Amino acid sequence: MPFTDDTIMTEAWSEVRGLVPVSLCDWPGRVTAVLFVGGCPWRCPTCHNAELAWYPERLPALHRQAVLAELTRRRQWLDGVVVSGGEPTAWPGLELLVREIVALGLPVKLDTNASAPQVVERLVTEELVAAVAVDVKGPWRSYPRLTGGAVDPATAEANFRRILALAQKNPQRFLFRCTKVPALSPQDLLEVRRYVPETFPFYWQEYIPPRPIAHGEETTHAFANSQT
Ligand code: SF4
Repeated sequence: MPFTDDTIMTEAWSEVRGLVPVSLCDWPGRVTAVLFVGGCPWRCPTCHNAELAWYPERLPALHRQAVLAELTRRRQWLDGVVVSGGEPTAWPGLELLVREIVALGLPVKLDTNASAPQVVERLVTEELVAAVAVDVKGPWRSYPRLTGGAVDPATAEANFRRILALAQKNPQRFLFRCTKVPALSPQDLLEVRRYVPETFPFYWQEYIPPRPIAHGEETTHAFANSQT
């Protein structure tokens, strides 16, 4: 059976596992909706959306048409849509998903752990995302511990430097964040802060202990900054 545009777009939305219709704190200064894309290649022990990140199939996938109808209905009150996760850049359907949101007239902010700078480069270069929030987990040497062994220090630093180079060409679109997890010392926090030039917005996020992962039960939704 040949693929139609509709089946391709439905596939692009098939990893969307959560929607927060209104958030006041996921894009500074804007009223947004937040979409959650399931899956993440990292295994941070402090992940507060671990079920979404590691077992997305346990969460019900949202129906594309229902989400589009909801966004369309709220469009006049929304300043944009945040695409979060999990790690959205790990999802092959991300670009199509973002294109469809932008086509509604809603700007998109992307939340990322910086693991796929090539994806961020494409979305920024194609003018598909109006803002990118980049998480810095800690000092480069701590990445193996902070990501559950998923990332070595050299890769973490190289990915960040590539994203920072993109940010310096598009300074109005980038902000950086770091969550103050218990494993980070005050010296670690100072080191992280020095990674990001003072010219960029930088936000410290308070640590929220991870929620227990349900075994054999469905969780109904993921969590936005506004819900933690
Ligand atoms: S990068 Fe983010 S979503 Fe992925 S495991 Fe770490 S905290 Fe969770």
